[in-house]
Amino acid sequence: MNALRKYKRITVKIGSALLVDRATGLKREWLASLVDDVAALNAAGTEVLVVSSGAIALGRTILGLGRRALKLEESQAAAAVGQIALASAWSEELNRAGLKSGQILLTLGDTEERRRYLNARATIGTLLKMRAVPIINENDTVATTEIRYGDNDRLAARVATMMGGDLLVLLSDIDGLYTAPPQIDPDAKFLPMVERITPEIEAMAGAAASELSRGGMRTKLDAGKIATTAGTAMIITSGARQNPLSAIERGERFTLFKPSRAPVKGYKTWIAGQLEPAGRLTVDAGAVRALMSGKSLLPAGVKLVSGHFSRGDTVAVLSPEGREIARGLVAYDAADAIRIAGLKTDEIETVLGHQARSAMVHRDDLVVSGTHEVSEDEAARVKG
Ligand code: GLU
Repeated sequence: MNALRKYKRITVKIGSALLVDRATGLKREWLASLVDDVAALNAAGTEVLVVSSGAIALGRTILGLGRRALKLEESQAAAAVGQIALASAWSEELNRAGLKSGQILLTLGDTEERRRYLNARATIGTLLKMRAVPIINENDTVATTEIRYGDNDRLAARVATMMGGDLLVLLSDIDGLYTAPPQIDPDAKFLPMVERITPEIEAMAGAAASELSRGGMRTKLDAGKIATTAGTAMIITSGARQNPLSAIERGERFTLFKPSRAPVKGYKTWIAGQLEPAGRLTVDAGAVRALMSGKSLLPAGVKLVSGHFSRGDTVAVLSPEGREIARGLVAYDAADAIRIAGLKTDEIETVLGHQARSAMVHRDDLVVSGTHEVSEDEAARVKG
């Protein structure tokens, strides 16, 4: 598996439909074949972390809930039943292959709050040091709409970047990215490589998700943005065959998303990957130029403030056309941000009645999206 063995730390995300059959439950043989691949990578010195979906789907089957829509507490109960079965299957199969494993269940706050993020990172890092394979899922039994990732694609990207991994593999029911959803458009072309996730690439995703999974291509590209910005490459490939990881080496097709050439590190990885910004700051063209050249965002360049946020929350910075260009930790509460938007630094003190920080978002707390480079036409749009 040379294509994969050149990576040091791989996070593999497995969709529910691959692991669980609605009628018969866990697809044990497939799981065993994947575990053989994980063991081979491990033996070659590549660390593997697993983000495994399937708790709710498996719990549904075990409890005989059929296909009907579930209430929140029913899917939480299904997750409780499914997760225990899922984790024991992983543990048994990894054991058979001579590997140890540990279960990690995360809720959104565990990666979004800095202190808990560092804690989760330390635990997973320790597991890897002890040569146990982390088997990770969202803690669906306690997660409710407001506090959930909702899809394991983004959770996996968050984990991969948190752990400084160099590759994220999304095993899916589709073999990669096409120029349009291939189920709908027979002329859709397969893309083996994506240099950068541009708005044009995002437009190719469509909205369709498969029956069992929460994410579609959309959440996979969201995951790709989190991963590649932090310097983690991403592969989307089909998991529908046995030994899906060695299949990559055998030459089965996949889409590779290249990592950014100027990846953000540490603290900035955490900021860039924040899943739900609490607010949005729309800025003028001058501020866009300042941000692109690595400067702080000053109140003078802010045109519009929206959302309810407090000082220290993550906000998205939008270009005049409404495209997200950066994320950062804001230095003011929303109410003050509205009052000082558009003002020069020396006017701020008069309005707020006290001395204030000059930046709305300080450059140390700011991450410009994508590769930190503006394409020619983007630069032209901003200038024009
Ligand atoms: N955490 C969910 C589960 O294990 C899956 C979420 C997803 O499909 O992305 O059932």
